[in-house]
Amino acid sequence: MKTVIIGGSHAAISLAAQLRHLSPEAEITIISADEEVPYQRPPLSKGYMSGKVSFDQVVLRPEDWYGPNRIELLRAARAEAVDRHGRVVTLSDGRKVSYDRLVFATGALPRRLPAEIGGHLPNVHVMRDHGDALKLMDRMKEGARLAVIGGGYIGLEAASEAAKKGVSVTVVEAADRILKRVACPETAADIRALHEAHGVTILEGAQLHEIHETNGIADGVILADETVIAADFIITGIGVNPDIALAGTAGLTCDNGIVVNERLETSDPSIYAIGDCASFPYHGRMIRLESVQNANDMGITAAHNILGEGRAYRPVPWFWSDQFELKLQIAGLNTGYDQVVTRKGLREGAKSHFYFRDGNFLAADCLNDGAAYMVARKILEGGKMLTSIQVADESFNLKSLL
Ligand SMILES: Cc1cc2nc3c(=O)[nH]c(=O)nc-3n(C[C@H](O)[C@H](O)[C@H](O)COP(=O)(O)OP(=O)(O)OC[C@H]3O[C@@H](n4cnc5c(N)ncnc54)[C@H](O)[C@@H]3O)c2cc1C
Repeated sequence: MKTVIIGGSHAAISLAAQLRHLSPEAEITIISADEEVPYQRPPLSKGYMSGKVSFDQVVLRPEDWYGPNRIELLRAARAEAVDRHGRVVTLSDGRKVSYDRLVFATGALPRRLPAEIGGHLPNVHVMRDHGDALKLMDRMKEGARLAVIGGGYIGLEAASEAAKKGVSVTVVEAADRILKRVACPETAADIRALHEAHGVTILEGAQLHEIHETNGIADGVILADETVIAADFIITGIGVNPDIALAGTAGLTCDNGIVVNERLETSDPSIYAIGDCASFPYHGRMIRLESVQNANDMGITAAHNILGEGRAYRPVPWFWSDQFELKLQIAGLNTGYDQVVTRKGLREGAKSHFYFRDGNFLAADCLNDGAAYMVARKILEGGKMLTSIQVADESFNLKSLL
């Protein structure tokens, strides 16, 4: 049986590796638009950007892993059309690749500011792929001025890397606080304080009016209240959209992602979708996650299901972010929380914010608090009870629940 995967990143490689592990005879082809050998994205705005690790250290698998594992990797190859009836994918160079099972692992694309307000200018950047990281690293020189539009994790990580290199950074957030979509006010306040302690200016409730340009080059940001922020380059970190164009053209059901059932099958049962591009059922609603955990775990589940196991995908989400000296680790999903309880960690400076809904433990943001993170994850994975009273009582040993 031949499995063809469109996309060559976290989800695709996880699936290919698991499929090969489970089935020595499976035929596997990866169609990847990227020229590079598939690589990890998280280090692009962390260790790779800071120069601590080389590109070879961020590839998902070494280049010489694919051949011996009989995984055909088509690089710089874009899937352009899917003939579901004939089970054939056509590439942009005209090549045809037939499949028995097809997997969309097309990921997500960064949102860009419209050209009318300067989003097209050459020094207005997004941060999604290796090329973006290289361009930004080139601009992050001591004394340069950076405006980051959007106070989400990617924008804040880039702000941190730039500030560490002596760049003067201003973060412009339209909402009344940074991280509004993903974290509680307590976590946001800790991260804001961290950035401010390192000289980053954070403007919250600040509406972007337009990017100011001189001779086709952005040289600042103008806010709705007419504040002007001078900048030598700009990063827009305003979220991503699932890459569903090809799936939509192929007639698959899409709604904020390629819609899949709990077995990760799309509306065509011979086609799966995994990773950032997939919208899947989670506790009675449809969600999409943008994380390495989700991409990897969906890849593993899809591999089992391609071989006929019929496994349900039931994740316990986790995520991390590195900014300055902070390692933030997040266990669970905080959606719909109505209570946050903060607990000091065992180590100096460590603390965690625990989220509850109707008294049920949902998630924890752990700031330099690896011990609490491990416990929170195990509690969630084991379906164990944790109450807000236990969290608030610092004499109570959370580990005793495991
Ligand atoms: C800078 C950055 C930092 C991040 N940090 C973290 C972090 O700390 N922790 C965390 O958990 N997550 C992090 N993430 C998110 C994480 O990287 C994503 O969730 C993950 O990459 C999703 O993997 P994916 O395989 O689903 O999709 P993607 O990584 O988006 O890859 C999809 C691939 O498909 C290719 N493709 C699309 N269409 C076609 C086509 N038609 N033909 C061929 N190829 C195609 C694209 O070129 C792309 O390479 C970060 C992301 C970025 C950008």
